[in-house]
Amino acid sequence: MGTAGARFMVARQVAASAGLFIEEGDTCISLDPGPGAVVAYAQRKVDLTTLDAIVISHRHLDHAGDVNVMVEAMTDGGFAHRGILFCPSDALDDDPVVLKYLRRFPREIIRLAAETTYSVNGVTFTTSCRHVHQVETYGFRFGERLGWITDSAYYEGIAEQHKAEVMLIHTILLHCRPDLPHLCIDDAERIIREAQPRLAILTHYGMTVWRANPQAIAADLTQRIGTEVRAAYDGMSIDV
Ligand SMILES: [Zn+2]
Repeated sequence: MGTAGARFMVARQVAASAGLFIEEGDTCISLDPGPGAVVAYAQRKVDLTTLDAIVISHRHLDHAGDVNVMVEAMTDGGFAHRGILFCPSDALDDDPVVLKYLRRFPREIIRLAAETTYSVNGVTFTTSCRHVHQVETYGFRFGERLGWITDSAYYEGIAEQHKAEVMLIHTILLHCRPDLPHLCIDDAERIIREAQPRLAILTHYGMTVWRANPQAIAADLTQRIGTEVRAAYDGMSIDV
C-alpha cells in the first residue's frame, strides 16, 4: 500500500506511507497503516469493513498515523464489534497513539509480546524479539512464507528471526549510521546473505535510499548476492 519510511518521505508523500496489506483466503490484515493509509486503501478499492486485523509494529507516526481511522473503518464506525488490533503496549499506555474512545470498537486489542505466535482466522504469525529501536518494536514472520523486518538497528539473529521464503526489509538508510537505529543497505545485504530467502524485497525507504534509486540498489544487490532482490513500489502486489 505504500513504501515511504521516515519523516521527510512521509511529510512530503514522496511515496505513500500506507504500509502493507495481506490477503489469505477470506482473511485480510492491514500492517502498519501510516499517514494516508485510509486513502490508499480506498483508492485500491479495499472494503475496510472486511479487515480482520490491524497490526502495528511500533508506535512511530509512519507506522501508526492512520490506526484510529482504520479501527473505525474496520468496525464500520464502531457499530460492528469486530476485528482485532495488535500493537505494542506503549501504543496504548503513556502518550497513546490509539485513542481511548475507540478501544471498545474492535472485538479485541492484543498487546504484542516478543517471540509469541498469534492467529487471525487461520493466518498465523510470530513476533521477533524486541527490535533495537527507540520504542517497543517487533518484526514478524508469517510461517515459512513471509518475513517482515520492520524498523530496527541490525542485531545478531535478525536474519534468523525473520527467515522465510520471501523477506521484506525496511531500509531507511543508504549508508549505515551508528547514531540511528535503522537498517542500511549493507545491513540488508548481510541479512539476505545470512537468511538466503527466495526473494528479498526492499521497502520503507528513507530519503537517501529514495534518491539513490531503490530499483538500481536492488538490481546491484541481486547481482552481487545472487539472490533475487526487488525494490517495492506503491501498489506492488506479490503472491507468497
Ligand atoms: Zn520507527
